[in-house]
Amino acid sequence: MTASVPADALARLKDLLGPDGWSDDPARLAPKLREWRGRWAGETPLLALPRSTREVAAVVAICAEAGVAITPQGGNTGLVGGQIPLGEILLSTERLRAIREVAPLDDAIVVEAGVTLLETRRAAEAEDRLFPLSLAAEGTATIGGAISTNAGGVAVLRYGVMRDLVLGLEAVLPNGEVFHGLKRLRKDNTGYDLKQLLIGAEGTLGVVTAASLKLFPRMASRATAMIGLASPEHAVRLLERAKAETGGGVDAFELMGRRGIEFVLKHIPDTREPLPSPHPWYVLTDFAAGEPGAAEAAMERVLARALEDELIEDAAVAQNQAQAKAWWRVREEQSAGQKPEGAGWKHDVSVPVSKIAAFIEEATAAVERFHPGVRVTTFGHVGDGNVHYDVLQPVGADPAAFTALRDQGSRLVHDVVAKYEGSISAEHGLGRLKSAEALLYKSPVEAAAMRAIRDAWDPKRIMNPGVLF
Ligand SMILES: Cc1cc2nc3c(=O)[nH]c(=O)nc-3n(C[C@H](O)[C@H](O)[C@H](O)COP(=O)(O)OP(=O)(O)OC[C@H]3O[C@@H](n4cnc5c(N)ncnc54)[C@H](O)[C@@H]3O)c2cc1C
Repeated sequence: MTASVPADALARLKDLLGPDGWSDDPARLAPKLREWRGRWAGETPLLALPRSTREVAAVVAICAEAGVAITPQGGNTGLVGGQIPLGEILLSTERLRAIREVAPLDDAIVVEAGVTLLETRRAAEAEDRLFPLSLAAEGTATIGGAISTNAGGVAVLRYGVMRDLVLGLEAVLPNGEVFHGLKRLRKDNTGYDLKQLLIGAEGTLGVVTAASLKLFPRMASRATAMIGLASPEHAVRLLERAKAETGGGVDAFELMGRRGIEFVLKHIPDTREPLPSPHPWYVLTDFAAGEPGAAEAAMERVLARALEDELIEDAAVAQNQAQAKAWWRVREEQSAGQKPEGAGWKHDVSVPVSKIAAFIEEATAAVERFHPGVRVTTFGHVGDGNVHYDVLQPVGADPAAFTALRDQGSRLVHDVVAKYEGSISAEHGLGRLKSAEALLYKSPVEAAAMRAIRDAWDPKRIMNPGVLF
């Protein structure tokens, strides 16, 4: 499917899109063929830049007829390579940029696929509403990409993942037909929920062109705290207590190990020690509440009791937005801080929250046995049981030799995940990186059902053929 594209199909696509609707200029293509982690060098015969759902449908129809494969791409911030074409037509949503409607009475916003997460949040705020999905790449990551990867981020604890935030979808199916499903209903029990199949499909079941998304009231008060503690187990116990004592008012609850903090302080300019003295583990948490002052009061109460009970070692509440922002920067730069330290085996896994501490302990013992000297760096959305569990090369080791051991090392980590009935991809998807590995952990029944759905929707397998099964 990734073989050369017939010349007449290419000519028809160019004709359809017009001179400014496509490109094969290497300089224009270059940033879209490299991804954030630098693992894949993509290639494509054509970058298609459709302006409307109608044009997307026409592109897909031509490709379907000619049996030409397509890779959809949004902001190219995906971390598993699913957006990088290896010979497929690259269909970018960068010109599907309209905010079609903000509907405060429906608590809904309707946006096109190429609108970024940040732009969506800003449009909601202009109508005094909150669009809660937030992640470090939100200035570039698009609604279409976030839907297709079922993105999570830092506010999942309270508002859920993308799957929970989508009310309706418009999408072009692999035969070029348009699924007009932009409803704003909270209740719709009329058979299979097709939008849910498209969410998390990583571009394999069609191209998302627009979505209607849930909005929420904006909170009147917010408090941010940085907390030092002894272990992930202490963090999980603190989370349980904070959720109970705030009546569900915890917006974010992020865990970071000391090693990751040190990498950020060493490599990222203008960052500072978050607390006066070092601690083995840190939690960065946000509480939010509807009444003015309530979040701050709840934070003070929860932290005072936790200190008294020796559940935590130290804590500071942000005195202003600048301080909260500086702490969030330490969290958001965890991945970037690791980069100068050399090669790493990265894992985006989830286990039940109650098993996080056991998972970290067992996985660390396994990788340290396998390769003495590795530096485990852990951070993540602990409230969702989602751990970014990264294993960095020993100091001075050869990066290439360490990378060559990645599959073996990752298998050890994933086996511990499986033991706790977790997932080897909590929020980034499978993409080109993990699709084969995922088959080792999916039950045959589940994998066969997924293949059957895909075969029914896309019998020629033109949509992102290198992704999923
Ligand atoms: C610094 C950083 C931090 C991140 N933090 C998080 C985090 O906290 N939580 C999280 O979940 N993710 C995170 N990510 C991953 C990434 O941002 C998300 O997966 C994001 O949702 C991808 O959006 P995108 O527009 O960049 O999609 P792309 O990277 O362009 O595409 C991702 C996948 O979706 C498909 N796709 C894209 N658009 C469409 C469409 N319109 N229709 C059909 N398929 C489509 C692509 O084919 C590909 O398979 C992070 C990434 C970075 C670089």
